[in-house]
Amino acid sequence: MPRLEVSTTHRRRNRAPRAPRRRFPGRSRDETIRYQLLNRHPELATVWDELDQRPKIPVEKATQPDGLSLTMLPFQLEGLNWLRAQEQTIFRGGILADEMGMGKTIQTIGLLMSEPRAKPNLVIAPTVALVQWENEIKKHTNNALSVISYHGANREEDPGVLAQADVIMTTYSVLESIYRKQTTGFKRKDGIYKQDSPLHMLKFNRVILDEAHNIKDRSSKSAKAAFALQTKYKLCLSGTPLQNRIGELFSLLRFLEADPFSYYYCRNCPCKSLNWKFKANRGCDDCGHSPMHHLCLFNHELLKPIQNHGNEGPGKAAFGKLQILLKHIMLRRTKEERADDLGLPPKIVKVRRDYFNEEELDVYDSIYGDSKRKFNTYVAHGVVLNNYANIFTLITRMRQLADHPDLVLKKEALDGQNTLVCSLCDDEAEDAIKSKCHHTFCRMCVQEYISGFDGESNPDCPKCHITLNIDLTAPAIEVDQGTIVKKNSIINRIDMSQWHSSTKIEALVEELYKLRSQNHTIKSIVFSQFTSMLQLVEWRLRKAGFQTAMLEGSMTPSQRNATIQHFMENVETTVFLVSLKAGGVALNLIEASQVFIMDPWWNPSVEWQAADRIHRIGQTRACKVTRLIIEDSIESRILDLQEKKARMIHATVGGDQGAMDKLTPADMQFLFQN
Ligand SMILES: [Zn+2]
Ligand SMILES: [Zn+2]
Ligand SMILES: [Zn+2]
Ligand SMILES: [Zn+2]
Repeated sequence: MPRLEVSTTHRRRNRAPRAPRRRFPGRSRDETIRYQLLNRHPELATVWDELDQRPKIPVEKATQPDGLSLTMLPFQLEGLNWLRAQEQTIFRGGILADEMGMGKTIQTIGLLMSEPRAKPNLVIAPTVALVQWENEIKKHTNNALSVISYHGANREEDPGVLAQADVIMTTYSVLESIYRKQTTGFKRKDGIYKQDSPLHMLKFNRVILDEAHNIKDRSSKSAKAAFALQTKYKLCLSGTPLQNRIGELFSLLRFLEADPFSYYYCRNCPCKSLNWKFKANRGCDDCGHSPMHHLCLFNHELLKPIQNHGNEGPGKAAFGKLQILLKHIMLRRTKEERADDLGLPPKIVKVRRDYFNEEELDVYDSIYGDSKRKFNTYVAHGVVLNNYANIFTLITRMRQLADHPDLVLKKEALDGQNTLVCSLCDDEAEDAIKSKCHHTFCRMCVQEYISGFDGESNPDCPKCHITLNIDLTAPAIEVDQGTIVKKNSIINRIDMSQWHSSTKIEALVEELYKLRSQNHTIKSIVFSQFTSMLQLVEWRLRKAGFQTAMLEGSMTPSQRNATIQHFMENVETTVFLVSLKAGGVALNLIEASQVFIMDPWWNPSVEWQAADRIHRIGQTRACKVTRLIIEDSIESRILDLQEKKARMIHATVGGDQGAMDKLTPADMQFLFQN
């Protein structure tokens, strides 16, 4: 039951007397800080040596768990052995960071099935992965584990019932929302109410974060909601190579409560705390000393030295420490290392280059000319960064033109349509979230937009141009699916009897015809970032006699699951159209062996993830990824930019993955060259 919170405000003043300022002649600021820290916390002097001397978990195979119907591969049994042993270390868990497609889910299910079993266990996954998790648990354990899905309107709220489940499944957005109701509360007419979160009342045996980088921002609401869970053991699953994303590692260590690495220390007294506790806004809630005197061991020992010095001097020492820590808390294997175990067929990546036809080239050239003029004006006035939003939009337009001119020329929805449109791609917003200024975006579009920004401050809203303020981890805006898709499809905005296909679409049709004539059981996945493009492709392919299915980011978990099942189980349905915004994570599509990527992006990791949907355990056919490029468009420049960035990153030791995501003014200039 919601309870009414009596709203009182009282300022706490618990400021301790100011410590006398000491000076240490001949010491740098960093050395002084370290001296003070060790003076108050002498145990920290030897943490790295002690950690380094701890025994490493030997590489051994666990026995196949009883009742698990799927036979685990050798490296998966090694993984299971590691997972079990890791729970007996001081960390009570760890990070399983195997490359995508190596079966982190099955290793986790193996762990859940291992004796001694205890309940309840909680799995937190992205919404798109929820049903797949549930299905795999049921399938591989012959229903030996009871699963409750804590999701949707009619979910079980009784903690007593929940506690009886072997596994509770939920999503990051549900977890965030119930925790928000418990902590900040929600508004009703007569005041602010708070409501206890059933998941935060339970004492779990084990909490598992799937795609754990969802909590990478330590101050986000999702991260805080995960930190607040009570559990004996903890496990993070992540396919991204964390050693390149040091900043994101902290949140996972904080979730694991890795002692002492995720703790804050006071330089003036023995105060040590897992949380940054400065509610009174002045002194520390515990010791009263100022925020200045508190430091996080992770930031101090690892993050800052690496940020400030790279791989030199103190940075190099920090890298060494990081390696020690990862060795004791993380397990990562790659497909290449374990190729023999996996028995994966080869994967080929091919670029198909086509040229615009005359009509397309006319449209493209005139719009490109305008865009380039605008861009050059920004350059001439030295205001490229101030116009990041405008330039980003220009680039998006050029990419859409390379797919089909209609994506730009017919983008206006008819009046009176009650749809959420993304302010960046002008498509129906998928996995929609809203900014403070009330503009809607696809979560992925705005994520890319923000991460691409290379300036000092925050980027502007591309619609209203005030500073963009948006919670990327906010739950998606709920919309009534059926009506929106029907109303907003580009097909309904165009007189299709007069419609012309595009070079890009015809290139795809040609490739698919070729495949069908070789073998009519071959299945393909077609990825695009633009839903309207997929709608045009779908229309064209159906005319050509292909049976298709389409996965959109705006689907609910059950719609999504039904669509995937339809594609996997129907031999006749040979083409799966997948929005990159919907298919990036958690899809297992080994029924297909061909991938077509319709539009390239400067950050290739999204494309790699897409290709990994088919190149994973269980795949028996040779896989081929075809990237369709219009050579005389911005796309060929984007491809060059990808390669340039990849070379740059590989050239620096411990390369900064962040540089890959950024779209610098020089990068933009590169795209508008020629
Ligand atoms: Zn203190
Ligand atoms: Zn303190
Ligand atoms: Zn969008
Ligand atoms: Zn705005």
